[in-house]
Amino acid sequence: MKAAPEAQKRLLDLAELDSVLDRLAHRRRTLPELAEIDERSKLYAKLVTQVIEAETEAGDLAREQTKAENDVDAVRTRADRDQKRLDSGAVTSPRDLASLQSEIASLHKRQGDLEEVVLEIMERREAADTKVTDLITQRDEVRAALSAAEDRRDAALAEIEKEAADVQGRRGGVAGDIPADLLKLYEKLKEQYGVGAAMLHGGRCQGCKVALSIAEMNAIKAAPHDEVVRCEECRRILVRTPESGL
Ligand SMILES: [Zn+2]
Repeated sequence: MKAAPEAQKRLLDLAELDSVLDRLAHRRRTLPELAEIDERSKLYAKLVTQVIEAETEAGDLAREQTKAENDVDAVRTRADRDQKRLDSGAVTSPRDLASLQSEIASLHKRQGDLEEVVLEIMERREAADTKVTDLITQRDEVRAALSAAEDRRDAALAEIEKEAADVQGRRGGVAGDIPADLLKLYEKLKEQYGVGAAMLHGGRCQGCKVALSIAEMNAIKAAPHDEVVRCEECRRILVRTPESGL
């Protein structure tokens, strides 16, 4: 392939802009916010589940407490009713009186036991409610930190996009100076090897850093200035400049 030496030199400008674009793409993929968002999202999802579990437990205990309190009320009502019967004097038989008194005593004992149960549930419920509050606080803190990280990510991405758009604009201008067939070869090599062109500098390919052999240097020396030469090692277009060492 043939191309004017000036057009070949423009390939180096293009390669420089492409390396800036590559760096920007790398920065976009490796923003520290991305890892932070990933980590915080996982923690947030975990806390959402934990809050639901804790709320369910607290709800269960609230229902358990209501039921235990109803049990206490039922026993108390029955004891009160028995007590009224006793106080009314309607029961006169000594055997019935003894039986009624024994029932009242056992109902009081039962009421005491059930009140213990209520107290024990109330303690567990208090602990469960505290756990819910703590977890909600943690969840909301993580959500706020996550939102802040997302905002920082969006700002960083917008900055990168702005810079990339600017570089793309300049790249368009440089590409316009390069003949279509040479540009096509450059793009193909870039696709295959990551970089399409490199400077020959001091007898060394700046792309792969390999020093050219004397035979290769002689072949390039003998090639016309408008001949497009390639690095035997990395296949990039080798651009000759006064610093090439020829
Ligand atoms: Zn090379």
